[in-house]
Amino acid sequence: MSEPTVIYDASKIDFEKSGKHHYHVAFHHDSSWGYSLVPVTIINGLRTSTANPPGVAIFGGTHGNEWEGQVSVKRLCRDLDAAEISGRVILVPQLSESACAANTRISPLDGVNMNRAFPGNPRGSISYRIANFVKTRIFPQVRVVIDVHAGGNEGGFALCTSFHPIPDPAQRAEINLVAALFDTPFMLVYTSDMASGLLPEEAEKEGKIAIGGEFGFGESVNRAGVLHAYEGFKNVLRHYGMLPGKVVKIDERRCSPPRLVDASHLEDYIPTPRTGIWEPLVELGADVHVGDLVGRLHDFSDHSSAPLEIRSHRAGALLMMHFPAHIQKGVTLFVIARDAKN
Ligand SMILES: [Zn+2]
Repeated sequence: MSEPTVIYDASKIDFEKSGKHHYHVAFHHDSSWGYSLVPVTIINGLRTSTANPPGVAIFGGTHGNEWEGQVSVKRLCRDLDAAEISGRVILVPQLSESACAANTRISPLDGVNMNRAFPGNPRGSISYRIANFVKTRIFPQVRVVIDVHAGGNEGGFALCTSFHPIPDPAQRAEINLVAALFDTPFMLVYTSDMASGLLPEEAEKEGKIAIGGEFGFGESVNRAGVLHAYEGFKNVLRHYGMLPGKVVKIDERRCSPPRLVDASHLEDYIPTPRTGIWEPLVELGADVHVGDLVGRLHDFSDHSSAPLEIRSHRAGALLMMHFPAHIQKGVTLFVIARDAKN
C-alpha cells in the first residue's frame, strides 16, 4: 500500500478530488529542520444520492493524550468506502500531531493547546498555523464539525457529547439532534466562559453544527467510548444520507435517550480548596443530592488529621471528577450538571 501523499503547501490541497485520498499535511517546525505531518483523509463519495449532504469534518487528537477519538477516526479512515459515501467527509485523526506523538495534552513544539489556538494565525507558531489551516481550508468545506475529546490525565468523565449554549434556535435544535446520534448516556451543555480559542467554539460561531464530547479518560482507550464515537460518526453520516442505512441504537442495554444536562456556568466547575490526595466516593454519572459526600481530601503531612469532607453544593449528575489522586489547590475537582430541557 502506498504511503499518504505529503502536501507541503496546505493551501494546495485538493478538496474536490473524487474518491478517498490519504495525506500528510506538512507544517514545518518553528525552530528545527522537520515537519509535523498532520494526517488528513478526504473522501468525496462516489455514490449519488438525492439528499443534499452537508459535508462532515471529524477531528481526533486535538489533545494528544486523549486516545478514543484518535483510534475511532483512524479506523474510519480505513473503513469508510468512497463507493458507499455520498458527499464530502474530512477525517483528521491526530490534529495536534506533535502532542499525539508525545502523549501530551499540548504540543511540545510550541507549548500551545490546540483547543485554545483558534482561529489560528498563518504566521504564528506551529499550532496556530495548523488551527489556521482548519479554519480557512477545512471549515469552508463542511457544515458539520465533530471534535472528539476525553479526560486525558485530568478528569474522569461520564460518556457525553457536548456543546455550548447556542442562541440560534434552529442551529441549537440541529446540534441537539446530531449530538443524540452518539447515544451516549449524557449530552452536556458546557460553559463558554472557561477559555477562548476552542475548535468547536469557532465552528459554532460560523453557524456550523459543532459537536464535542468526552469519550473516556485516563490516557487509555475506553472501549465504550470508542464504540459510541465510531458508531456515532456513522450515525451522523446515515442521518444526513451520506452513508446508506438507518441510524442504529448504539447501547442496546440503555432504553432511554441521552440525558441532556447543563453545566453552562463557571460556578458549576468546583475548584479544589487545598492541595491534597483525593478520595472519591461517588461514581461518574451517578446522581447526587445537595449535601451528599462527594469525596475526602487527605493531608498526609499529618496522618492523624481528619480529611476535608467535600459535599455536593447541588443536586444533579456527577459528569466529571478529577482522576489522579494528587490534586493541587484551584484545579477543577468535579462538575455536577443539572437536568435540562431540549
Ligand atoms: Zn480534550
